[in-house]
Order: sequence, then structure tokens, then C-alpha cells
Amino acid sequence: MKTSSTHPLLCLILAATLPCFVSAVPADLLRKLKLDSDNKYAGYKVLAVIPNSEDEVAWLADYKKTASGTGNCSLDWWSEPSLPTVTVSLAVNPGCVDDLVQEFRSVGLSVRTTIPDLEQLIALEKNYRFLSQLYRDPYKWNDEVYHSLAEIEEHVDYLVEEYPQILSKKQLATTYEGRKIEVVIVREPGPVTKPVIWIDCGIHAREWVSPPTCMHAIEQLIFAVNSVDPSEENLLALFDFYILPVANPDGYVYSWTKDRMWRKNRRPIAASEKQGVSLWGGWGQSNAKCDYGVDPNRNFPINFHGEGASKNPCDDSYHGTQPFTEAESQAIRNGVKIMHEQYGKGRVAAFVSIHAYSQFWMSPYGYKKSHSKDYKDHMKVMAKSVSALAKVEGTKFTYGPISEVIYIASGSSIDWAYEDAGIKYSFGLELRDRGEWGFLLPQEEIVGTVTESWEGLKAMALEIGKEYGIAS
Ligand SMILES: [Zn+2]
Repeated sequence: MKTSSTHPLLCLILAATLPCFVSAVPADLLRKLKLDSDNKYAGYKVLAVIPNSEDEVAWLADYKKTASGTGNCSLDWWSEPSLPTVTVSLAVNPGCVDDLVQEFRSVGLSVRTTIPDLEQLIALEKNYRFLSQLYRDPYKWNDEVYHSLAEIEEHVDYLVEEYPQILSKKQLATTYEGRKIEVVIVREPGPVTKPVIWIDCGIHAREWVSPPTCMHAIEQLIFAVNSVDPSEENLLALFDFYILPVANPDGYVYSWTKDRMWRKNRRPIAASEKQGVSLWGGWGQSNAKCDYGVDPNRNFPINFHGEGASKNPCDDSYHGTQPFTEAESQAIRNGVKIMHEQYGKGRVAAFVSIHAYSQFWMSPYGYKKSHSKDYKDHMKVMAKSVSALAKVEGTKFTYGPISEVIYIASGSSIDWAYEDAGIKYSFGLELRDRGEWGFLLPQEEIVGTVTESWEGLKAMALEIGKEYGIAS
């Protein structure tokens, strides 16, 4: 993994003075190249806060609950207070930074700035992509940049057309804004005989490195079928796959076009949903967060509206009024229902939901601290997975139950898949990094991230395959 302390995108700000990098870019194009943005995050900083004791973790968690939108502050928590010494990141508006840092330090928390100018970094991300695409074949998929929803859908369509024997699409739901949520079914031709594995990506919009991980999985499965390299494991000889590259397309599009830091879906919040809730000031320069969006990954019926989900529509983890009110959670329920009908219960070998960031491989439970009855088997499979993953570029993942690795999270798909849908191996992944760039993971790290993740997923599948008598 690259360990440079300079963000690769930062070199682009120097584009005009880096002739080696941009000598081939026409001057008029360079002039057009500007930091286009609506300045939503002008002056915002991202802070890394480290609680040093259980008391400080508790203090910070309480602060998050009660003071995120008070006074001059509008805070976007990128990660949750969890354990002593584990960094918590949050984006902070300019009018609040100094007071907040002082307050945090006064109670003993360590604070440092990881991203001094959030707006600039968002703009640089766009321009990096623009430059990277400039001299490429527009019809060729580029692994080295983030892709819009339209580009992802176009590439899926291309692959389905190119490999009709192995790939097909199935619509699972329609979003509030009318977009299709489509799963890609990857399997060798013939009757259903193998167990099946589910992988979904992009349920949280701003976690941009997640969708490319699903796309990479689809491509690797295709290529392994035809590989002449005997060391290349053809997982399609063992399993069928249902892969959902973008589980929250409305949110994803919004994160591209309006607000890079958007996490939820885009369903408008009804007036009745706000009744009896004390709404804090909302987010950024508008109340957009109070008016739109449910966190689809808090909308599943396991300990619904319990700890780690919010009843406040302004919150990023707003759970909605009832379970399965959202197209995105309905889509996942439908996908699992279809797999159960086609394969039979007990033949859905794994359910994997891919997020970013933090470098975690996690198992149930999220909503309670007690261990599941399959805890030991979960730990065994996760150990194999993270060890295979680490072999690629040395990236270290922490593994264990969600409630122990990060925090209590209620209403998540992982607990639902395990407890309600009866899928024994139900895992949530948080990909790179550990918080240095967070959601704005440099595009230079996409290839490494998706490659190592796939190695981890392969190891997971092979280990689980032993229980089905299909792997040794
Ligand atoms: Zn997420």
C-alpha cells in the first residue's frame, strides 16, 4: 500500500506547474480545469479525535448524540466513538472548529486535523478523475477512477451482453426517484445445483470505493472461468453469485451531483415523520438532511429503532418509520427471497455487505453485545479472509462481531440476514482506509483495495465451501 503522507490528489493542485504530469494536456483544457463545486464544504476541516479511556469514549458518544448541531456547529461524524485509542473522524464547519477543538482538548481528547480543506479535496477528486479519463478510450472501463452510476450501469450492460452465458440482471426494486435497483446474477449455465453467495455494495452513498469492489468481483468471476492459469480458482465451479453493485442509486447519484458527503437514500421526509422529534439544525448550509433520506442500513427489522439508529430524520442513521419502508432495504429483502426460492434455505452460503471505511471484517451481532451461536465459525472464516486479504499489499483488517469491533448498530442488513433470513455467514466489510482520507480515499488506491478485497472474499468462499463439501 502507498504510505506517502501526501495525498496523490494534492499533486493535481500543482498541475499547472507540473509539466511532466500535464505536458500533454492542451492549454485551453487546462484553463477549463477548475475546482468546480458549489462550495458546500468551503472551510470545513476533518478532525481525528482520539479518546484515551472508556470515560472519554462515553463522553464523546454523548456529545455526538446531544450536541452535533447546536450553537455554531454542524458536525458530520464520519465514524462512531467505539473504543479507547480508536480514532473518531468528523467534518466540522469553519465557524465551529476552534471552539470545538478547545472543548475536546479540555476533556483530555487528542485532536488533530486530517483534512485541512474538505472542499478542496472534493474538487481535487473530480479533477483527478477528469485528467485520468482524458486520454483513455471512453468505451473502456477505467479501474483507476471512481465511476458515476451511468458509467457503472453501462459497464454492467456491456458485460451482460458480452458474457450472456454467465451474466444476467434482475430488477429488485424501484427507488423513490425511479431508478432500478438491479442485481447481477453470475453463474455457470445449467440447472441450480450449487449454493449461492450474496454481495451488495454502495448502500451508503458516499462510500465510493464500495461499488468498484462489486464490479471487480463480477469481472474476476468471469475471467476465472476462462483462465488457463491452473492456480486461478474458478469460484463459479463451486458457487453462484448475486452481486448488487449499487444498492442505493439515488443516494449515489446525489453524492456525485450535489453533496459528496451524502450517505442516506433520497426519499423526502414527510411532516408526520418529524413530529415529536427535536430537529437539530441540519447539515451544512441548508436543512437538506432533515428533509430527505433514510439510512437503508438501519431499516431492517432487527431491534428496529434500537441503539445505534436514530429517530431524528436530520441524522445520518435515521431508521425511517418502520422496517422495510425503503426501496433499498426492500430490494435486499427481495434478492434474498429470490435466492431462497431458487436455491432453498440453507443454500444461501453467505451474505456480504460492503462498506467503507475502517478496515473491518465483521459478523453478527450488531444490535447486541452477546455472541451468536456461530461465533466460533464466524471467527474462523474471518481469520482466513483477512489473512488472505493482507497477503496482497499488507493491509490489516480487524475482525469480529460488529458490536465489538465498532459500535452497537440496530436494524442493519447483516443482523437481519443472519437472524431472520437464516444465512449463517453474514458479514459486513469496511474497506480502506483507517481514516486518513476516509470517504475520500485516493483513486490511486482503488485497484489495491478491490484486489485485496476480492482475495479476502475468495478465501471466505473457499472456507465456507468446506461446510458444503465443495472445497477442501
Ligand atoms: Zn456504510
